[in-house]
Amino acid sequence: MPAGVYVVVEHLNGQIAELSFELLSAGRQLADARAGKLYALVLGAGGEASGVAGACGAADAALCVDHAALAGFAPEAHIVQLAALLKERPPAVTLVSNSSKGMDLAPALAVALGVAVVTNVAGLAVEGAKIVATSRLYGGKIAVEAEVEGGAAVLSLLAGAFPADKGKSGKPVAVETVSPCPQLDNARVAFKRLERPEAADIDISKQEVLVSVGRGIQDKENLALVQELAEALGAALCASRPLVDMGWMPKSRQVGKSGASVKPKVYLAVGISGAPEHVQGMKDAATIIAINSDPKAPIFDVAHYGVAADLFEVVPALTEKLRALRG
Ligand SMILES: Cc1cc2nc3c(=O)[nH]c(=O)nc-3n(C[C@H](O)[C@H](O)[C@H](O)COP(=O)(O)OP(=O)(O)OC[C@H]3O[C@@H](n4cnc5c(N)ncnc54)[C@H](O)[C@@H]3O)c2cc1C
Repeated sequence: MPAGVYVVVEHLNGQIAELSFELLSAGRQLADARAGKLYALVLGAGGEASGVAGACGAADAALCVDHAALAGFAPEAHIVQLAALLKERPPAVTLVSNSSKGMDLAPALAVALGVAVVTNVAGLAVEGAKIVATSRLYGGKIAVEAEVEGGAAVLSLLAGAFPADKGKSGKPVAVETVSPCPQLDNARVAFKRLERPEAADIDISKQEVLVSVGRGIQDKENLALVQELAEALGAALCASRPLVDMGWMPKSRQVGKSGASVKPKVYLAVGISGAPEHVQGMKDAATIIAINSDPKAPIFDVAHYGVAADLFEVVPALTEKLRALRG
């Protein structure tokens, strides 16, 4: 049975992406269940790869490749190099993030290696020689189980599906430098530069308490009501997509499929229907509270607590109560 598990590590400016720690955590679990080894694959340029590899202590070894063509992310170079490296080893499981990079890598790498690919993976189990991967499709509406016979495959894992903490370890890791493959000298696509979005005032994915507002607020001027509630609660304000599309809130405050995924301790959804694209970004909040005038609104299916009432009555009353409690 092929027992090795390989994790493709994403990094930027010498920092490993949180998603990659989630992969290392899932990979560790898989490797242990299959009595195999876990390898971190770190590609980069200018010595960046070996610098980053030291933080992959959850792995048994880190394999580093350094070449100018591997600077930043040019999919062709990364696919060619990963395929060359993995072809020299026994067929194994390769884990990539379901990120924009991972979506480029997973199918092409699977074709190059001649193995199966399973995307959007949120759960993994080992049953004898088989790996059972559970994927969440259509914004989480459908769960699909795929059995990988023999266990050799490329799997792309959804963000937030595995605990990043278990992928972080201060243990020293054996670092092996692998020679770059010759095709990198002829790579046809080169990474030129990274253009960063304008810095957001706050990072909503790191907030503990969020008040999120949706189209039920009806008018831009009414946002003051929820802003006051957020302040009384010590929370940050975020929103559903329509409010961002209308220019009422900045894009950096959008929660959902095409916005940010958030995991606060408390998520208070005000006038939000609970469309799957919104729920995808907030369903992992520890406590979800919804205020919506429609008792059949789907947000109540994911909410732990709900108030089926007019937000224009509930929100000011709640703000007043909170202010009184806080003195
Ligand atoms: C590819 C794609 C990506 C998308 N990405 C995202 C995304 O990242 N994030 C996102 O949020 N959406 C996203 N959407 C849009 C999503 O499908 C929904 O259209 C959107 O989430 C709805 O926003 P809403 O709940 O604010 O508005 P609505 O669906 O219009 O809901 C408004 C709610 O307010 C309630 N309401 C009205 N008046 C009151 C009142 N006085 N008091 C209390 N409640 C009231 C209503 O009962 C209703 O439930 C995406 C869609 C697509 C196709």
